[in-house]
Amino acid sequence: FDDRDGKIWMDGEMVEWREAKVHILTHALHYASSVFEGERCYNGKIFKSSEHSQRLLTSGDLLDMPIPYTVEQINAAKDAVLAANGLTDAYVRAVAFRGAGEEMGVASLANPVRLAIACWTWGAYYGDAKFKGAKLDISKWKRPSPETIPHAAKAAGLYMICTMSKHAAQAKGCSDAMMFDYRGYVAEATGANIFFVKNGEVHTPLPDAILNGITRQTVIEMLKAKGITVHERHIEAAELEGFEQCWLTGTAAEVTPVGQIGDYHFEVGALTRDIATEYEALVRA
Ligand code: PMP
Repeated sequence: FDDRDGKIWMDGEMVEWREAKVHILTHALHYASSVFEGERCYNGKIFKSSEHSQRLLTSGDLLDMPIPYTVEQINAAKDAVLAANGLTDAYVRAVAFRGAGEEMGVASLANPVRLAIACWTWGAYYGDAKFKGAKLDISKWKRPSPETIPHAAKAAGLYMICTMSKHAAQAKGCSDAMMFDYRGYVAEATGANIFFVKNGEVHTPLPDAILNGITRQTVIEMLKAKGITVHERHIEAAELEGFEQCWLTGTAAEVTPVGQIGDYHFEVGALTRDIATEYEALVRA
């Protein structure tokens, strides 16, 4: 992915894609002092750009690495990098991290907080799952306690278990993995939040140990506007059997129907299809 044409915004400057490099003694590479955002631009406009820029700043604060830019500056940088690459429909990746400094060790206050923003064309995250429903594995890894990590941060360190979960899922022919949290409650997929339908009502995990996704919040608003009851609550493993429909939400995943989690099967039902269609219309509006 590094050897291609294009431009990447790095620390206030537009650099050639191939030249957007960091030193091997970059703090983030050794100690995961890195936070990021995944966003999508539709028809020339990033969906909820300010919300993503704000979450990036919040993630940085949570990791004790204040990012030296404002929401407005980050928004402008994202628009600039899209324009520099001539893209109107693209995925946008902002990443803030502690760079190389005078010293190398766990403490990082002497290392500069850097920011880079790249963008590229990225289609459906789960391929044709939009129609038949994605197949999910159940991960053996658990989302950690909020006393272990700041779960509200979109922090690189939190993705190690996601990568391991996803590798295990793919080895079994699944497109992703669903993880439980440290208490055994249903948590999220490796890059998306999860929703279930039963008797016309919607159930989704409380965001008390997971990322409270921007797509998740958008979809909850959409459901409530339709008069559908949404229960944000702790969901037990034993409940999976009783749910009729299931879908994932995320910037990359958008609204993706789920057909199977482990041995549990779900139908790609009317509500799932309606929400997927409405979300598509909303982001392009
Ligand atoms: N959970 C995890 C672990 C994620 O990586 C993502 C993607 N950012 C989400 C949930 C969904 O968040 P959003 O809707 O803000 O993209």
